[in-house]
Amino acid sequence: MQTSDSPAVRVRGLRKRYGNTRTGFKDAVAGLDLDVGRGEIVAVLGPNGAGKTTTIEILEGFRDRDDGDVVVLGEDPREAGRAWRARIGVVMQDSRDLSELTVVEKVRATAASYPDPRDPAEVIAAVGLAEKVKARTRGLSGGQRRRLDVALGIVGRPELLFLDEPTTGFDPQARRSFWDLVTGLRDDGTTILLTTHYLDEAAQLADRVVVVRDGVVVAEGPPDTLGGPGARTPVVAWDDGGVRRTERTDRPTAAVARLIAAAGPDGEVPGLSVSRPTLEDVYLSLIGETPADYGKPADDNKEAA
Ligand code: ATP
Repeated sequence: MQTSDSPAVRVRGLRKRYGNTRTGFKDAVAGLDLDVGRGEIVAVLGPNGAGKTTTIEILEGFRDRDDGDVVVLGEDPREAGRAWRARIGVVMQDSRDLSELTVVEKVRATAASYPDPRDPAEVIAAVGLAEKVKARTRGLSGGQRRRLDVALGIVGRPELLFLDEPTTGFDPQARRSFWDLVTGLRDDGTTILLTTHYLDEAAQLADRVVVVRDGVVVAEGPPDTLGGPGARTPVVAWDDGGVRRTERTDRPTAAVARLIAAAGPDGEVPGLSVSRPTLEDVYLSLIGETPADYGKPADDNKEAA
């Protein structure tokens, strides 16, 4: 039986394989571990095909797994019943079927299937669809459909909310409103597990980010410290006769002084910049892409200065 301090999600050694004997088999999820604490917002990041949606859909009980232990709100999603399903909210990557129903009819119909739903009108307003309340759902724009998906995911007052790329198609203003909505849900005690390709969204919302690559977790931690202490070491970059040079150093002022001393008579260092790697830079290096001007550690790069 679940206690209130047990994690909302606990995954160990999750495996999911796709394919057949003709096409061959491929592990989409290859031994993944994941914990989500009660009241936490966790963002799962990873390149296309990393296994994020497969993992989320297994946790939601919509996909079967080949191996591993999965506990979501105290139950194995493979065996959990209707009472469990009423405790989770789901915003899937693909919009649900749309119909002749209006926005308010659709949200009301969904609310009716939960024991303690939120007020449909309040939910519609919270996702910014108040002006579309009587519009038919099939006539909504892409971003408006996505907002409706979010409304349907939260109207049941879930304890745990899964959001798979929730803000795809949102304009910048709608994205910010959505962030406010999500942090408000967290403040009310909702646990949230989301996937996103927007690094600013992860930085803004997540207590913890989990980076998935090739079906396994390659790094996790709070957005500010992801990648370990050295990952945010400042980077000094400059142009040296048409070649871009970089130096990662905890003493960027000394590096700049050295460059100025070595510069020509006007003391100018072409293309000089000093920056601290962003979450995006750290993420790209974790998934094996080298971001521009990310630089090597100072010790590997001394001759460049
Ligand atoms: P994205 O960021 O593009 O949404 P993702 O990280 O969510 O990607 P998944 O959708 O979980 O990745 O896919 C992981 C891998 O499994 C991919 O190689 C994908 O092609 C494959 N895959 C996913 N669903 C199926 C399926 N139903 N049948 C066969 N292969 C699948």
